[in-house]
This record gives sequence, structure tokens and C-alpha cells, in this order.
Amino acid sequence: MAGQDAQTDRLFPLAQHAQRGGQGAIAGAIVVHQRQPPRQPRKVGIASVLLEAGSTFGDGSRAICVARQSFHILERIGAVAPFLNKALGWTTGRSFYRGHQILEFEMPDSPRDKYRPMYNIQQQFIEQYLWDAIAAEPLIETRWQSEVIGLSDTPDGVLLTVRDPAGSYDLPADWVLAADGARSPIRKLRGLRLKGENYEGRYVIADVQMAHDYPTIRRALFDPACRPGGTVLVHKQPDDIWRIDYQLRDDERTEDALDEAEVRRSVAAVLAEIGHHGDWALEWWSVYSANTLALDDYRDGRVFFIGDSAHIVPIFGVRGLNNGLADAQNIAWKLSRVIAGHAPEGLLDSYSPERRGS
Ligand SMILES: Cc1cc2nc3c(=O)[nH]c(=O)nc-3n(C[C@H](O)[C@H](O)[C@H](O)COP(=O)(O)OP(=O)(O)OC[C@H]3O[C@@H](n4cnc5c(N)ncnc54)[C@H](O)[C@@H]3O)c2cc1C
Repeated sequence: MAGQDAQTDRLFPLAQHAQRGGQGAIAGAIVVHQRQPPRQPRKVGIASVLLEAGSTFGDGSRAICVARQSFHILERIGAVAPFLNKALGWTTGRSFYRGHQILEFEMPDSPRDKYRPMYNIQQQFIEQYLWDAIAAEPLIETRWQSEVIGLSDTPDGVLLTVRDPAGSYDLPADWVLAADGARSPIRKLRGLRLKGENYEGRYVIADVQMAHDYPTIRRALFDPACRPGGTVLVHKQPDDIWRIDYQLRDDERTEDALDEAEVRRSVAAVLAEIGHHGDWALEWWSVYSANTLALDDYRDGRVFFIGDSAHIVPIFGVRGLNNGLADAQNIAWKLSRVIAGHAPEGLLDSYSPERRGS
């Protein structure tokens, strides 16, 4: 698999993606391959290998809100077109207290901006479109059902042990971008721990299909009749899918709240509150509780942590996926400069402070 030109004897395993996500590593692979920013993506022919433990894309969305900055990154890696076709741009948020609107805000936007401040699109489409972009890059190899189970330093790189359906094998690498998610096995293999806060609030996240006549405006309902004392968020997504997030009361058991009949009952109450009385279908649901956790240093020798493996933030700031893309962008262009001999290795030291401070 080592390749056809001066750079292709270098491998960049990116532990990553698919069962439930993985945009960070895919974007990173494309960026390394293309040598990013300066604004003219120019391919420098650096081979990379993307390793994914799973065998499919996620079957239920997690992230839905993608920020303007991420669209600029998607543009730079040549992947923005399908996102623009599918995603719903939005600028407005409305907040309601006990059924009465108390706030309407507009995010900064102007005709000079190329992209809207925020877009809604399901995470499975994000993964699919990034996969399509990577599939068009001959020097980026993706290996599905390939789980990193070991990792050790060598004098000039890292040796990964990978398990796939045929058995396990060693894979030498110069550098590793570990985008293996919140539970990051690579983080554990390196003996590293996230530090920070866990919060007690729990939210059920449900995606519902319905023909509901309301613009793409984020609605926040505080202390609504359907959830006294709680918070409910409502977002429109493509294909008539609506995201309903509702907060659980302290006395509600998580297992009971996730029972399908109970989810249907709770969603029906929210829909009645927002004035939807027609048909609807429950597509997907899950439960979520917020954490603010991060590694002290996103770099450990030749391993760089990107996305949820490095940091976990509450979903309501819509920063998890957006931060992961920005991480990938930041480290990948630096790595490609260093590998190509256009920058000293010290450039890589700026990754962690820049991204931790963002
Ligand atoms: C309900 C919900 C709503 C959210 N909404 C938003 C939002 O609106 N906006 C936003 O920006 N973020 C949002 N997020 C956060 C966002 O989903 C995550 O931040 C993002 O998916 C993290 O991407 P990642 O690539 O770091 O990790 P993941 O998406 O978790 O991907 C990790 C991948 O690594 C693979 N893997 C794991 N171990 C190994 C191994 N040993 N070897 C090989 N591969 C491995 C896994 O199979 C997986 O595919 C939301 C999250 C949730 C739960």
C-alpha cells in the first residue's frame, strides 16, 4: 500500500469512524493528503490509512447543527457541495417560557458571508458525504472492521496492532491521529484520562418524521406544559425529520424514559404543545447527559487526539462535531507541512494549545 511517489512510504493511521460517526478522521485524512490551508488545496501525495472498527455508518443521528466555520473547512477539502444541497441553513432562535415567546435572536449574517451561521443536517449524512469525498482520493485507504487493539512507540514512529475479521496484524506509522471517539481505546492504551465535570441533567433525544409547517428556527421551550420545570428543544432537519430534545425530571428513571411507549407519550405531548396535530413517526431516540471533559494535552508523542477522544462538550453548544472538524483541520495541515519538509517539527507543538484554547 505504500505508494507511488516520494511521500507515500509514510502511513498515517487514523483510528476512526463509522458505527456512530467519524467525520474528524475522514476530514483529517483528506487535509493531510491535500496539504491545507493556505487557501489553494494542493495535493502533495501523502498516503494515509483510515482504520474504522465498525462496518457501517451510524444508523441514528447524533449531531445535527453544523456551524459556518465547518462549512469553510468542508469547502477547503472539496466536500461542501452535497452538504449545501442537503443541509438547512438557519439564523434565528426563539425561546418560550410557559408557552410565551420571551426572546428571538438572530445570529450574525450578511450577504458578504458565503455560508449561513448554522446548518442542520443529520450526522449520518455528514459521515456519508465525507466518506464519498475520501473514496475519491486514491492515496487515502479506508479499512473497515479494523480495530486498533495495541499501540507502542518505536524509535521513529508508532506500531499499531489492528484486528480485522481475518485476524490481527501490525501496522507501522509515522504519526497517528486518534479520532476514536469519547471512549477512545487509544486514549486508554496511552494511559491518559479526560478531566472535567459531569452534569446530572438527562435528556431524551428523539427524531420524528412529520409534515410540520414551521421554518428552520431553533425553538427552546422553558417550563412548558408538556414538561413542567424542564427544557425542550425543537429543530428542523432535512427530509421532514424533527429533532425533539426533552429534559428528564430527577424522579424519572432513565430505563423507563427510554421505553418506546413512554418516548411516544412524551413526544406526543411536545408535539401538541408546538401545535402539531397531524401524523408523525418516531425514527430514532437516545438519552444524553452533559459532560465537560478534556485531555490536559491533545498530543502524546506521535499520537494526536482529535474530536471526542480529546474533549467532550455539552451538545447544547453544538460544538462536538464542529470542534472535531476544526481539530482535524488544525493538525492535518501542520502534519502535512512537517512531513513535506516545509516546516520544522516544532510546528506540531502548537496544535494542543490552539485547540484547547478554542
Ligand atoms: C445527541 C447528540 C447530539 C449532538 N449534536 C451535536 C451538534 O448538533 N453539533 C455538534 O457539533 N456536535 C454534536 N454532537 C457531538 C458529536 O456527535 C460528536 O462530537 C462527534 O460525533 C464526535 O466525532 P468523533 O469522530 O470524534 O467521534 P465518533 O463520532 O464517536 O467516532 C469515533 C469512531 O471511532 C471508531 N472506533 C472506536 N474505537 C476504535 C478502535 N479501537 N479502532 C478503530 N476505530 C475505532 C468508532 O467505531 C467510531 O466510528 C452531538 C452528540 C450527541 C450524542
